[in-house]
Amino acid sequence: MRFRAGRQAAARQVRAASNSLDRRAAAWRVSAIQSLPARPNAVSPIASIAVNTVLLTLIIAVRYVLIAWTTHALIWRKGRAGSVGTQLNRDWPKSATIRHELKLSVLSSWIYALPAAIGYEAWKHGGTMVYLDPLKYGVVWLVLSGFVYLLIQDAYYYWLHRLMHHPALFRWTHAGHHRSRQPTAFASFSFDWAEAALNAWLLPALAFVLPIHPAVILILLTLATIAAVLNHSGAEVLPPWMVRGPVGEWLITASHHSVHHNHYQKNFGLYFRFWDRLMGTDTL
Ligand SMILES: [Zn+2]
Ligand SMILES: [Zn+2]
Repeated sequence: MRFRAGRQAAARQVRAASNSLDRRAAAWRVSAIQSLPARPNAVSPIASIAVNTVLLTLIIAVRYVLIAWTTHALIWRKGRAGSVGTQLNRDWPKSATIRHELKLSVLSSWIYALPAAIGYEAWKHGGTMVYLDPLKYGVVWLVLSGFVYLLIQDAYYYWLHRLMHHPALFRWTHAGHHRSRQPTAFASFSFDWAEAALNAWLLPALAFVLPIHPAVILILLTLATIAAVLNHSGAEVLPPWMVRGPVGEWLITASHHSVHHNHYQKNFGLYFRFWDRLMGTDTL
């Protein structure tokens, strides 16, 4: 009996000793961690934005050249008398026009890359409404968000476009784009720096106030590229029944936008025709 009591007391002493040892070890670990110098931030936000701007500039420029070049090569095939589809340009594209369009587009690339890199940096720090769980705001918003973004972008561009045609602004904001009276697919991104800057901030800024999923951003960018490249290609690839039918009735086609490159006071829209219709600037 006395022997068992002694063993229990010994066990208690061992436990107490080991608990105090554990506590001391834990305290030592905490103090050791606290005494470590704070982990230096691997890359500062400014450096990160700079690096991402360079990367995005390359991605935007290379993507633009590949898509524009492929479209142009398919529409204006060597050995043909004219374009594929209904030719809208009077002449075969001139290399001087393409060189000008290429130069402005490559310059525009970094102007578009900078706000995107800032938006990405803000997203990394939780500062935007870009969300990764596709069901976070429900399926309805997932789909609707794309249309809301499109409508805002379309309205913004219509009014910005009209403003840029004001004689006081035209020369330094929009004349570069209009040097292509007979545009090619390469004109899809050829903007003066001011026009590029006035356009490039919109989508990243919207991402701060309107929730959007990256997949929707990707779809919007793809649609914008397809529309811009085809609408400047110098030919109408859609069949006449679509241009004059339900598609062309509401959406801006190459036939619609090519009119703007010749008659500056008509057809200012980006995706949809309703702003032009509403303001009496629509013609086809
Ligand atoms: Zn214009
Ligand atoms: Zn244009």
